[in-house]
Amino acid sequence: MGELLLHEVAGRREDLIALTQDLIRMPTLNPPGENYLEICEYLDRRLQNAGFETELIRANGAPGDSDRHPRWNIVARREGRNPGTCVHFNSHIDVVEVGHGWSMDPFGGEVKDGRIYGRGACDMKGGLAASIVAAEAFIAICPDYAGVIEISGTADEESGGFGGVAYLAERGYFSPGRVDHVIIPEPLNKDRICLGHRGVWWAEIETRGEMAHGSMPFLGDCAVRHMAAVVAEMEESLFPALAGRKTDMPVVPEGAKQSTLNINSIHGGEAEQDADYTGLPSPCVPDRCRMVIDRRFLIEEDIAEVEAEIRATLERVRAGREKFEYDMRELHRVLPTMTKRDAPVVASVARAIEQVLGRAPDYVVSPGTYDQKHIDRIGRLKNCIAYGPGILDLAHKPDEYVGIGDMVQSAQVMALALQDLLQCK
Ligand SMILES: [Zn+2]
Repeated sequence: MGELLLHEVAGRREDLIALTQDLIRMPTLNPPGENYLEICEYLDRRLQNAGFETELIRANGAPGDSDRHPRWNIVARREGRNPGTCVHFNSHIDVVEVGHGWSMDPFGGEVKDGRIYGRGACDMKGGLAASIVAAEAFIAICPDYAGVIEISGTADEESGGFGGVAYLAERGYFSPGRVDHVIIPEPLNKDRICLGHRGVWWAEIETRGEMAHGSMPFLGDCAVRHMAAVVAEMEESLFPALAGRKTDMPVVPEGAKQSTLNINSIHGGEAEQDADYTGLPSPCVPDRCRMVIDRRFLIEEDIAEVEAEIRATLERVRAGREKFEYDMRELHRVLPTMTKRDAPVVASVARAIEQVLGRAPDYVVSPGTYDQKHIDRIGRLKNCIAYGPGILDLAHKPDEYVGIGDMVQSAQVMALALQDLLQCK
């Protein structure tokens, strides 16, 4: 049965290429969120033909949703002949902006040297296509399976997933009563199983000063200098402390095995003018300076301690600096998550990787988050992994591509995992 299934997937290579090309040729740019309905309707036709019952769901009122840029999602479900568990493949349909430096048409889906090129080829239309072909091949070989296959295409992963997986999870589409195993075909490489991700804590820090004429700064109080003191204290005490904190999570790349902090932005004083403004700036002492920080934390760290550590850093600045005043507010938080290695979906995909690639998988944890965060927290589903073709480092880059051979092999892995989980021996 296994050999037959592998053969069936391999025979669908041309179809897999064509499907990936079709998906790339729909520019589902996010922001602002273009062509979501078009791609959902395309997937709707494809999956109905394969015997799925489909639902198109608009995330009404979600962040970013508008009549001009509606947040459409598709959920497709195919019940087997006998009852059993439900395996759900979830892919995001959106892609990030094109950027500069392309030598290929970003929405052309060109095939060259065994690769398909385009924005979203690896992240993650190649993975979406692989999961669809895997399911179709499995159904052809094993029409009497026990259980349920679900495939979803969801909006807005690149901007937080609130109009996609979060919206659906809040409405029960990802819940223990409905779904048992979730595979997210993000580009984590065909021989790696991604168990989860680190935590995220974003905050905005504001320092306050007092406006005055720039020729007499002594009459005011410069908020930018106060912020510079914050950065200096971070360099002195915070960054070394974070670098010394290592996790047992198998995070890749190696540098992300520690706690990290990025300063996303600093804005102080007069706002920057439009590029076509030809005048000079005005001379003012800035009375406000804002910094946005992006702290990534480990499963061994507590989020309350993460926040307290930043506050303690600011308090040390206050202790050594006259007239130092600040505010801090949280912008965003995601708790770390890691599926257990002995979870059924992990074990099934691991066996399938061994069968297709002839070696044991690597188990990894992602440095950044993806839609597993909503499946874990809102959906309360602990049996979730990311597994898909495509090389993670190519995501969001110019000349993004997915290897055709990698797609075929990871579709074979997905099909074998279905066979294992849906009791088709
Ligand atoms: Zn992605």
